[in-house]
Amino acid sequence: MTIWVTRWLPASLVITALACGSPAPPEEPKCDPGATPAALGPPAGARPGEPYRWLARSWQSPLGVTIRTYGLAIDGVPVFGRHEVEIYDARGQLAYRAGTGGAVLAALHDRGAAAWAAWQHPFASPRSEGRSDPLAHTTERAVWYYADGSVVPAVTTERLDLRGEPPVGEIVVRHAVTGAELARRGTLYELGGPEYLVYARDDGRPLPSLLGNTLPHPTGVPDGRVPSPVPQQSRRQSGVIAGLPDPWLPSPAKQTRGNNVVAFYDSLLNSAGKLVDPFDDMGNDTPEYGPEPDTLGHDFFATATGERFAFTYDPTKTVSEYFQDGAPGDPASPPSASDIAINAKIVQAFYDANWLHDYFYAAGYNEAAGTAQQSNYGRGGTQCDPVIVHAAFFTTFTFPGAEGQSPVLDIGLNSRSASRRDSAMDFTVLAHEWGHTLIGRLAGGTADSDALGKLQGMALHEGIADFIGMLVNVPGVDPLAAYPIGTYTNLDYIERRATLPPVEAPADAMYYGIRRYPYSLDVRKNPLTLRHIAVPPPTDMPYYNWKGRGPQLSEPHTTGEVFSQGLFQCFGNIVAAHAGADFESLRARMAQYLVAGLIAFPDHPSLLDARNAFLGVIRLTHPADDYPACRAGFATRGMGADALGPDRDFPTTNPTTLPPYDPATVQESFLDRDRAVRLISSSFATDPVRARRPAQHRPGRPDDDLARDHAGGARRGHVPRRRARRPRQAVARDSDHGHRRRGHRCVSSARRSSARRLSAVRLHREGHLRRSRRGHARGDLPRLGAGSDGALHLSQPSSASRTVGRRAQREPVRSAPGSTGWKSAFSFTAQSGQGQFAGICAQVVPGAKP
Ligand SMILES: [Zn+2]
Repeated sequence: MTIWVTRWLPASLVITALACGSPAPPEEPKCDPGATPAALGPPAGARPGEPYRWLARSWQSPLGVTIRTYGLAIDGVPVFGRHEVEIYDARGQLAYRAGTGGAVLAALHDRGAAAWAAWQHPFASPRSEGRSDPLAHTTERAVWYYADGSVVPAVTTERLDLRGEPPVGEIVVRHAVTGAELARRGTLYELGGPEYLVYARDDGRPLPSLLGNTLPHPTGVPDGRVPSPVPQQSRRQSGVIAGLPDPWLPSPAKQTRGNNVVAFYDSLLNSAGKLVDPFDDMGNDTPEYGPEPDTLGHDFFATATGERFAFTYDPTKTVSEYFQDGAPGDPASPPSASDIAINAKIVQAFYDANWLHDYFYAAGYNEAAGTAQQSNYGRGGTQCDPVIVHAAFFTTFTFPGAEGQSPVLDIGLNSRSASRRDSAMDFTVLAHEWGHTLIGRLAGGTADSDALGKLQGMALHEGIADFIGMLVNVPGVDPLAAYPIGTYTNLDYIERRATLPPVEAPADAMYYGIRRYPYSLDVRKNPLTLRHIAVPPPTDMPYYNWKGRGPQLSEPHTTGEVFSQGLFQCFGNIVAAHAGADFESLRARMAQYLVAGLIAFPDHPSLLDARNAFLGVIRLTHPADDYPACRAGFATRGMGADALGPDRDFPTTNPTTLPPYDPATVQESFLDRDRAVRLISSSFATDPVRARRPAQHRPGRPDDDLARDHAGGARRGHVPRRRARRPRQAVARDSDHGHRRRGHRCVSSARRSSARRLSAVRLHREGHLRRSRRGHARGDLPRLGAGSDGALHLSQPSSASRTVGRRAQREPVRSAPGSTGWKSAFSFTAQSGQGQFAGICAQVVPGAKP
């Protein structure tokens, strides 16, 4: 279509030329997009209905070769979408032929004269509107449409309206007699593409939340104030400063199903109209969960109207929004595909995830680095793995997904918000969740590297995801300001209490967000330093005890805060080192450092190893300015030159048991010296254990089916939608302890001695806990029992203990397959005769081993 535009640009130049006294312009050309090429007519001797090929173009290249394109036709009417191309060398010899035209011609010829006689087109002469406006016209042409060895008479309708808002460009092929639609495709590739009604800034960057630009906190003190919602804005990819040329959606687009992101409502209703758990007792995806869209169920995409994904969200009605957050087994009404709020969330999440894709692509997270795309455009990497987003889900979590397996973002309800806020409308949270996909892909480089499988790796996953949530949202870095994440999502925190213990801060979500402290370069707003992974933060600065994680120092989010604060301090110092420089260029460079540093992570990095990876990259690329700035930032947070931390392989067994870090292993250092980086020397080749290993295999090999299945990594064209399920009697082998158990292995995060006393404690998962608020848990739930080593494990259902009214969390814990297989985990709270306790359940599934 741009050809038309280009051809007409000289028309405006003509006026200028006249004014300059140049030669008179040529006569204005007569435009008839429907005109018939003369060569299309049947050759001499052709019988009625007999197919033939016609020369559509013969072109000689300055290189000396001649390229001819032949179309197919019958009785002067072309066959739609079929041609053949030939290249002749400088001597006129045919050197190359390609295209399906020859094969189709042969197939049509084979039908024989009797069939040809029946091929009579009702509109034998092309129909068009004659002289057309090149920027806006509708053209109809008679064509033949080829399918399955035969042709049917058809009419193409090409609609073009570049002046329209939105612009329109498409070709539709319909049966000439029945009118049935045979094919449809867009013809606009370089215009704006679809329009999205979203919470975003003028430059296309999503806003931190529907409350507008809430970073940093406006006053820097917890004052309880909540800003008013801002209106959504119409945005197009073409207007997004960070947008890539690769389209988020083809044009015209109807659904939020693109090359980078597939966003839809993922219903958990089964055929009996009852809610199911997204995961069965073995931790496998249930068919209702997917993760791909279930066309037989109630899943649905957001649908565009005239190239506009425009759903006006009403932030005052969050309490009554539709969520499938009942207990498994509960009947529920089906979702409505026309639900405005759900559609607005799908569109926002689709937009946000695409924006993040493009932003970090520019920072190096491209095909070769493992970015998630359906097509990699022939640029390397593994394709067929776009990010899948389940919008308006009943909770929020992420499965990173290894290369070749779609990451899954479940974005939805914060059940701890009394006003039932959705994290799709909080870009700090969505970017955190998406950040897990970036981190999971980049760290380690291979699917089976288990790069972040240890306790500090889990903390790095959370801490760096937090930093990503901040990096893409902050408008700059003020050294005294407070930068909370998750403020909108967590408004009206359900556990708000009038009287708090001295260590707990009031539940002011706008100031604290969802962490103990807002991130801040000011130690009076965020006091965390390296030692606080092992000892509690100072008691004179009360912290926000979200989800009760505050005292759990080795919990990944809690430990992750320490590292994220170090990264933030690094970034703040880099910004400060370039006074007057453009913030966007510094932010983009920090994103490049993030991508490169993550790729440079060693196996099982400690927090200090991760620091070294980032510092190593920065020292190699910006040694004079950014390196000392970043290094000083880490030193400010106790991760200086002489810092020591826990062993990178701590704990040597199951990291999901969250054992506390031993304070004796943590020595913080505020010394800003070059020693902080011990530059890279690999011991990989000389490691006798590793040297004996055969080459690591890639996911997708036949022997890796089990692991792939468990990863939820359905790949279109390779795996049936309802993928083969692992047999229920399969045992999970925990090689760390040398014994076998079925299903999840659970350990209380309370003292083990008390865990041992629990004779009958129910296991609760997301949905189950909701039910438990109303009374006793369901009788068909698995039971948690005490094992000989003090760990808890699943056994038969029991009618004993009672649950508590607090939902468990499920976190992005399905990691890459490590040496012991796949892992999934979730934490829970429960109540027994001995009182309430918290715990975590992990499942280790035997997977292919390197
Ligand atoms: Zn997270």
